[in-house]
Amino acid sequence: MLQQTQVKTVIPYFEKFTKKFGSLESLSKANEKKILKLWEGLGYYRRARNLLATSKILVKKYNSKLPKEIDEIKKLPGIGEYTSNVLIALIYNKPTLALDGNVKRFISRILNIEEKKIDFQLFKSINSKNIFNTNRNSDLVEAMMEFGALICNSKIPKCERCPIQTNCKFFSSKDKIKQFKKNNIKKNINIFCYLSKKGQIALTKNNNLGFLNTFYLPQIENSNIRKTSKNWRLLSKYKNSISNKKLNINLYYKFSNNIPADYTWHSIKSNKEFMPSFTKKIFKYVSVLF
Ligand code: SF4
Repeated sequence: MLQQTQVKTVIPYFEKFTKKFGSLESLSKANEKKILKLWEGLGYYRRARNLLATSKILVKKYNSKLPKEIDEIKKLPGIGEYTSNVLIALIYNKPTLALDGNVKRFISRILNIEEKKIDFQLFKSINSKNIFNTNRNSDLVEAMMEFGALICNSKIPKCERCPIQTNCKFFSSKDKIKQFKKNNIKKNINIFCYLSKKGQIALTKNNNLGFLNTFYLPQIENSNIRKTSKNWRLLSKYKNSISNKKLNINLYYKFSNNIPADYTWHSIKSNKEFMPSFTKKIFKYVSVLF
């Protein structure tokens, strides 16, 4: 849940989720719709699907335990280099490094080497003897993440309070590395909503938006693809962000009984079915028409 999502956002979801599924076994028996419903609003729904798939594999193949070998862990759905290292450190206290954005930044500053050049091998070759000289590997991994988030943070590092200031090349160097900036992608899109007089909206899973691909959405196109016909009425212009995508949205609607073949009608008031918050926001706008 914490992947790309802030702790304060995750807490209520985590509490609700773990209350519902108190064990790996109970999670492994859940169906996907239920999991997605609990995840609703948190985004990055692939995480929920992978979590469910992993729970089933662990129960079935590994007697409800996490494998001890990192290569085995990496075979589980959605688990790559970073997550496998976190798990092996936190659960089995193995000496390793979890290179998330915070840790990469903090190491790049200590060594005064550009962030894109920081990888596990480089760090190990330079510093492994000193850094892994502990039997508290799980604490070390967590501490490095927290240190990068709270002290050596992305905006203004708190160097004056930093206990490793004297070992930091970024702090002492006159020739400091340039700091990495995350680029946002700006996109202009048109959303076309077919509406019925019964308070329904036609949705499809066949969108070529490049994100939220497997979920129900209205028709969406890049706004430069075509000019809108007169039959479509502009309802609103608004902005929405998904990850690093900043979307400028023109929302159009028309009442029609004829919808394309791969569309189905959905009530805009029903809360039973899972819908990503991107779609729910559209529901909110079109609800003023009923
Ligand atoms: S001295 Fe500053 S830049 Fe260096 S590790 Fe500490 S907080 Fe980060």
